[in-house]
Amino acid sequence: MISLQDYAPIVGQEVIDQLQRLAEGLGPLRLVHINSTAAGGGVAEILHRAVPLLNQLGLETAWEVIEGDQPFFEATKTIHNGLQGFKVELPPELWDHYLEINRQNARKFSWEADFVIVHDPQPAFLIHEMRARARHWVWRCHVDVSRPHFPIWRLLRDIVGSYDASVFSMPQFSQNLPHDQYIIHPSIDPLSEKNRELTEAEINAVLDRLGIPRDKPIILQVSRFDSFKDPLGVIQAFRMVKCHTPCRLVLAGGEATDDPEGPRILAEVQEAAEGESDIHILLLPPDAHYEINALQRAAYIILQKSLREGFGLTVTEAMWKGKPVIGGSVGGIVIQIQDYHTGFLVHSPEGCAFRIRYLLHRPEMARRMGTLAREFARNHFLITRHLRDYLTLITLVRSPGSRVFEF
Ligand code: UDP
Repeated sequence: MISLQDYAPIVGQEVIDQLQRLAEGLGPLRLVHINSTAAGGGVAEILHRAVPLLNQLGLETAWEVIEGDQPFFEATKTIHNGLQGFKVELPPELWDHYLEINRQNARKFSWEADFVIVHDPQPAFLIHEMRARARHWVWRCHVDVSRPHFPIWRLLRDIVGSYDASVFSMPQFSQNLPHDQYIIHPSIDPLSEKNRELTEAEINAVLDRLGIPRDKPIILQVSRFDSFKDPLGVIQAFRMVKCHTPCRLVLAGGEATDDPEGPRILAEVQEAAEGESDIHILLLPPDAHYEINALQRAAYIILQKSLREGFGLTVTEAMWKGKPVIGGSVGGIVIQIQDYHTGFLVHSPEGCAFRIRYLLHRPEMARRMGTLAREFARNHFLITRHLRDYLTLITLVRSPGSRVFEF
């Protein structure tokens, strides 16, 4: 098992000591995280790593996953799309179903806690049924709510308003809410299967197994098949590059159990890539962390051409592997990529194509950007910083006040 001390060579002993001091200051505490999927997507990715480490720090931490049926996840995907600015309509019966599934989940839970962190809209209504079971409730929003579709945000805001605090990934996402709001950036775990160092032989073996030759530079995007990740825009950009410069495109994705749109988007992507032998579309199982690690390490450039993005852990993962990243100039990607320095921010398939070609012709610059990207990720986006933010959040929520904090 990975111990907290194993992070010392990466982030420094003083960081570990500080975490221990912060945790000791909290005293005995039962913490529960709640979300809606155990696999797929950034939230599950973070909780898998953070929960055991919080336990090691002495916080009795549990992770609960709510269950839902297909209409529930249709409702929550509509809410998600609305929060990210799409003008969606949520029929009243779907909203009622959303509330009812939350009630049903609340009846199944029997725990009590000091502190509950509810992730994203799916389980947000639990507080209505379970408030008395915990002293403090915090809503942690991972999506880009900078420009929400107001009728959807209004529905959710009435629920979220009853929490003691909310947490957003960047200041631009904060909202008019009757409680303190905190800004916490997500993180990756450098020692996880997804991010640990691999040998060249390990990387080659995975690429052989996946049928991806390393004869040309690999351009990679790893994401769920979701329209906000713009896989069709990526294919468009790749086609513009490919007619001038040889390269391969790998689109690696899987399905999140709480995302009903995946199969439709995947079919559109497959159709757009038809007849193109240099495009590889990989549908990976949710536990393909090692494979994604190898793909990211084999890539020459990593893309995250999102049209909306809460944070974009795939960007952090790429940066940690010393890769230049070309990302959509949206959401949390903007705080990760320093334009022209650790990668490039783009606004269109044409811009993306231009930057891919630019880097393909400048290997030394690509290498330099990757090196800077890795150091930036080390300083800002590793799990030890995230743990410190959680511990500080708990400390602050337990003390009264009315401010916006940025850690
Ligand atoms: N991921 C994965 N398999 C896939 C697609 C994505 O393991 O097929 C991982 C990816 O490596 C990253 C997370 O899921 O760790 C996605 O997080 P991100 O913040 O980029 O996007 P989200 O899916 O949460 O919108």
